[in-house]
Amino acid sequence: MEKCIFCEELIPADSEECPHCDKKPFSGMYFDPEKYKIVDQLEKDGELEKAWELLHEEWMVHGDVDYYDDDMYFELLEKMHELYERNPSLIRQRVDLIKDYWRNAVYYAYVVHKNDIEEGLDIVRKANRKDLEEELIDYLDEIHR
Ligand SMILES: [Zn+2]
Repeated sequence: MEKCIFCEELIPADSEECPHCDKKPFSGMYFDPEKYKIVDQLEKDGELEKAWELLHEEWMVHGDVDYYDDDMYFELLEKMHELYERNPSLIRQRVDLIKDYWRNAVYYAYVVHKNDIEEGLDIVRKANRKDLEEELIDYLDEIHR
């Protein structure tokens, strides 16, 4: 038996659909792993923004309040971070992602955790982007208001 990630009822581990909430009950079941192959190919072809967009779309879906899949949420976040690390030209997208992530944190937990703030600010500091650092600090004020 395993817990459905949506309604947390215990159900057989091989269930395709949860008998309690009718959703696909386990992490990753709403994700098509082929997507990662498409993203890899786009990156190889230099279509960085498209590769990012695809990951970001999936991340939004998995962070949706109705389909919140913790494991996939953080896996996709990590994939986007790796894509950025290999391709620093995606800094604008990376900064927007930090904002999305913080906004979600406020939505679910009312505040952004100190570590998450530091992690976000570190990314723009490493890139030597004082302007983006200020933008993020302003954004923190805005979402905590
Ligand atoms: Zn369920």
